[in-house]
Amino acid sequence: MSRVHNFSAGPATLPLEVLEKAQSELTDYRGLGSSIMEISHRSPAYSEIDAQATERIKRLLGLDDAFTVLFLQGGASTQFMMAPYNFLSAGQTADYIDTGRWSDKAITEARRFGTVNTAFSSKESHYTRVPGQGDLNLSGDARYVHFTSNNTVVGTQFPTEPDTGDVPLVCDASSDILSRPIDVDKYGMIYAGAQKNLGPAGVTLVIIRNDFLEQAKVDDVPTILRYKTHAAKIFNTPPVFAVYLVNLVLEWIEGKGGLPYFESFNKKKATLLYNQIDSDDFYRGTADKDSRSTMNVTFRLPSEALEQKFLEEAKKENLVALKGHRSVGGIRASIYNACAHESVEALNRFMVDFRDHNG
Ligand code: PMP
Repeated sequence: MSRVHNFSAGPATLPLEVLEKAQSELTDYRGLGSSIMEISHRSPAYSEIDAQATERIKRLLGLDDAFTVLFLQGGASTQFMMAPYNFLSAGQTADYIDTGRWSDKAITEARRFGTVNTAFSSKESHYTRVPGQGDLNLSGDARYVHFTSNNTVVGTQFPTEPDTGDVPLVCDASSDILSRPIDVDKYGMIYAGAQKNLGPAGVTLVIIRNDFLEQAKVDDVPTILRYKTHAAKIFNTPPVFAVYLVNLVLEWIEGKGGLPYFESFNKKKATLLYNQIDSDDFYRGTADKDSRSTMNVTFRLPSEALEQKFLEEAKKENLVALKGHRSVGGIRASIYNACAHESVEALNRFMVDFRDHNG
């Protein structure tokens, strides 16, 4: 069996050890004579998986009992609507930092529920950067400040959380969750679709600080869309197999050394590629240098024809899923936690060769 060097932006490559473990347990989960997909989500076996995954998230992020961890469905896109549905009413303001396609979609949904103050937008300059603290035009009395910690399409990432004083941050961390330590005390809520750094598609991690959760609305919010419904108990059938796989990925992250390990591992991989991009002007990075992402490395070549050739020849070397997002074109190498150093080295070698033959 051969596995490709997979640079997919999401669903993204998973650790081989995790896939193999899932394979070995697939038809008979730990002596039950059934797979985990074929038993009740209220069974002891599944309850243990849910509890373990919750504890691992808390340990990895350094969350104490002041936080609630939920495994929901509907992808991060559902959270674009659910967060304002629960926390924003007509006459109230939420601040949104607009740093890319996904922030923009979150803003569109929030406007249905209350007033959105766009505290910063780099839309006019094609989202090539994230703001510095001085660029933020915060309203001061916002219910929350929403930001996208890593912008998957353009390849930018906040180097650190924006400072919003006492106003809680609500963060879409879909494309850099658990890739580095964060300052959890600044957050009221963090959400992430699992399919990049956490596991397969189909489950969305939502972390809410309990004092923020207290403020979530109940009236006029449909039962299944209330955070309080899910915080009280497992309300309906969760995506059991996805949560099971997330739990295995979390075990793998812990085994490697947790977030400090991944922070330096991810930086090392990204630096290799950015150094290559910066070595001359054949490759051109598309994000501003101080906004560059360690998760999605985006660049252009001198022409679209060369980009096409790059993708075709890369594929022959087993380097796949390097095409940039359809809205921006170019090349994008997504190098999340599970992307091996050897894969990035192979891409780096290919980039050198390709330039030698085409530059
Ligand atoms: N936010 C970010 C930062 C993303 O990268 C994506 C998906 N690529 C989404 C939200 C949307 O996620 P989903 O498809 O899970 O709704």
